[in-house]
Amino acid sequence: MRELCGDFLVINPYTWVRNACVYFDSKIREVHVVESTNSPDKLRRHYYTIITHGLASAHTHLGLYPIRSSVSNGLDLDGWVRIYAWPWEKYLRENWRLTYVNALISLEELVKSGVTAFADMHFNEEQVGLATEKVGVKGDLSIALMDGGVYESFEEGLKENLYLVNKFRESKLINVRLGPCTPRLLTPKQFRNAVELARESGVGIHTHLAEVPHDLTYLKKKWGMNLKEFIKFVRLTEVNSLVAHGIWATSVIDDFFTSRNVYVVHPPRSNVLLGDGRLPLLKIISEGTKVALGVDVAPTYNIIDDMSFALALHYQGLRPISPELFFSLGSEGGYRALGLGSGDLVIGEAADIVVWRVRKEAFTHPISSIVLGDARVSEAYVNGELVFSGNTLTNLSENEMEDVREEFNEYLCDFIKSHPYCQA
Ligand SMILES: [Zn+2]
Repeated sequence: MRELCGDFLVINPYTWVRNACVYFDSKIREVHVVESTNSPDKLRRHYYTIITHGLASAHTHLGLYPIRSSVSNGLDLDGWVRIYAWPWEKYLRENWRLTYVNALISLEELVKSGVTAFADMHFNEEQVGLATEKVGVKGDLSIALMDGGVYESFEEGLKENLYLVNKFRESKLINVRLGPCTPRLLTPKQFRNAVELARESGVGIHTHLAEVPHDLTYLKKKWGMNLKEFIKFVRLTEVNSLVAHGIWATSVIDDFFTSRNVYVVHPPRSNVLLGDGRLPLLKIISEGTKVALGVDVAPTYNIIDDMSFALALHYQGLRPISPELFFSLGSEGGYRALGLGSGDLVIGEAADIVVWRVRKEAFTHPISSIVLGDARVSEAYVNGELVFSGNTLTNLSENEMEDVREEFNEYLCDFIKSHPYCQA
């Protein structure tokens, strides 16, 4: 059995203990408070160690990592998709090996921010699955199903998604959902078909809904439905669903978002940078909606950046919002949304554990140190296995990672031939 001891051990976002150890194999077996130790270790003199449960990004597109910064170029969602996303996705679709190396690189950044589980929606996801297994973290994968786009047809994407369900059925790290992308990219019948197949296959759904107001006007103009009628038609509440955004969906909160099957995934930076709108987060939580956090596409694939950004975004000028709320959305919210347990550091849960270090002079409170970005991840464990230590992924050697970076850069140079980096 392994043992990890810290100056602070966070049981859940609202409960932590001083000087405690956690004992684990693949699951958490014991938690003990211990006497304070005066370790001669130099690091212990200057840093506090905080032990927490791992975090989750419940809505991510690893494949868009190379164009992540373009979301801050002042374009709205549709403009950004047209100018940046489609050309890149067309290139990525044709280069499955690029999907693999890109997944390794973007996962390294996610894990560096304490993420031990993530939900990803894109294409070539078999490669994302293989990279996820290589890194050793937990992935919840779906194909972005659409009528055309990067596919010849809706059926092509669907076939790829159903293949993925079978491919990873026995995996200890990968879950698969079906991913009807958004009502604007496939017909209501196709969307309903995906939901029916998900139910038959015993898997969940991952989708985007009500990200921008145009999502609602499109449904009305094209199909004569409001959002409530659409959700009823496709029978979305009958399966476990990750719903990214939901910003403009407050009219259906009562009978949809409070459904026990639905998690709204909130990516705060993506929403602001693309001008989508501002989710009424505190309101929907108070009304019973279950919420998780996601990086989606943002200038860094760092879930802590989303936590601290959300803390400022949702301040309403009345009284401070507690950082614990955002740690809860990133740990408990994400893990529960992905069906991976409580997201708390308690006996019986999978040993998905993160060890953080924070300089003593910057420290005020274990949770705010993390949410405000003062703490750094020093180790991460998934199912009790060490996956990150010494600022690197442990399941890839230094040479392997160097080769991956080189291959990744060669692809980028091929895509953006005139980029200054490629002429150096
Ligand atoms: Zn998205």
